[in-house]
Amino acid sequence: MSEPLLDAYDEVAALVADLWAHPELGYQETYTSRRIRDFLTRHVPDAEISTFARTGLRLRLGPGHPRAVALVAELDALIVPAHPEADPATGAVHACGHHTQVGIACAVVAELARRPWDLPFDLVVVFVPAEEYTDLETRRGLRESGEIAWFGGKPEAMRLGVFDDVDLAVLTHTMGGGYPVPTVELDCDLAGFAYKHVTFRGTASHAGFMPYAGVNAASMAVLYQTAIGLGRQQLRDDVLARLNPVVSSEAMTTNVIPDTARVSTDVRTIDLAYMSELSAKLDAMAQGAALALGGAAEVETEVGYLPFRQHRPLSAPFRQAFVAGVPGVEALLDDRGGSAAAGDVGDLSVMLPCIQIGYSGLEGRVHGADLRLVDPVTVLDAVPRFVIEGLGRLGPVWDEIATYRASYEQYVAQVRRLDGTVASAVNRVNT
Ligand SMILES: [Zn+2]
Ligand SMILES: [Zn+2]
Repeated sequence: MSEPLLDAYDEVAALVADLWAHPELGYQETYTSRRIRDFLTRHVPDAEISTFARTGLRLRLGPGHPRAVALVAELDALIVPAHPEADPATGAVHACGHHTQVGIACAVVAELARRPWDLPFDLVVVFVPAEEYTDLETRRGLRESGEIAWFGGKPEAMRLGVFDDVDLAVLTHTMGGGYPVPTVELDCDLAGFAYKHVTFRGTASHAGFMPYAGVNAASMAVLYQTAIGLGRQQLRDDVLARLNPVVSSEAMTTNVIPDTARVSTDVRTIDLAYMSELSAKLDAMAQGAALALGGAAEVETEVGYLPFRQHRPLSAPFRQAFVAGVPGVEALLDDRGGSAAAGDVGDLSVMLPCIQIGYSGLEGRVHGADLRLVDPVTVLDAVPRFVIEGLGRLGPVWDEIATYRASYEQYVAQVRRLDGTVASAVNRVNT
């Protein structure tokens, strides 16, 4: 492992260790947000830091150029109780490595703040809450009370106008373990997903005394899952389609024919049209299972995150930076195709060109019980310098990169085309 080169390295590493010890779930990242604000205030004392969506932070660096690039970091942890370092009370842990993204963004801010500004654009640094699609009951409560309109922090930030004055966005994300040398990745596309809840309704009766008087909802749930299992044979294999049904109903007892059973599944793929097609197939399977056993099925569809296609022209300056050489970055994983992982960067990419740069330096599986930071110097020193080098090469090719821009309203229209339930509160508010 090489020696760190950035002045703020020790401070960034301490911040990241502190965030690892204080994992917080989406829209509840209050400690995280406070610690980041302290860091930013120390390094950019005259900066105006604004807040949004409960815990989000935003800071604009630069002399006031009309053009701006966003550097985005995510704040939240997720629930993996099996992780030995999970918070025993909540099960939360940074098993997606978002604490290290925060460290990278903070390192970039600290480094740029100590240099004369030489980028031909401003940098808007955005710390976004709630990337993980989890803890949905809490989010439903927040949505019902009108505090948020979207479960995902990025669409929520888009609704609040956080990206209105931004032309391009750069994100970073851990790739998990398994890389022999310090590695960065460009152009890995991500799937999107919808989330379907099916509630089967039957009739309760005594399972021993009068089973014939009942209609078994749990059997409909089994039949539905069997249909999904068999239907998987006919899934397209070129678009990373994934279905992951789980039984999410409350406890049943063996002496009562269950009158309610609930099955939830995500519908993942990198192809938006195929997502709608699969969604319709699942509806038919649910209705068929209910019909076969004399009950009813209620289907609810939530739009999760949209598929993410990396904006290839925006990756080009970062590829050039790698070729020119950045000390501590030894390998580039380039355009290996897509991943069935998903993120709300897909939603942001509907509005403006985005890339998400992958990095090594963590060990274990992303979302697994073994993910942890093992090479802080690569992650918190070499990767931020790589980001700065890429940003430095972006100016001359700006016109080839900033090729589209959609409004928030156009984004909402895109989501509505998926036929999912969209909260009525998604309409724009003035901030
Ligand atoms: Zn994740
Ligand atoms: Zn993540």
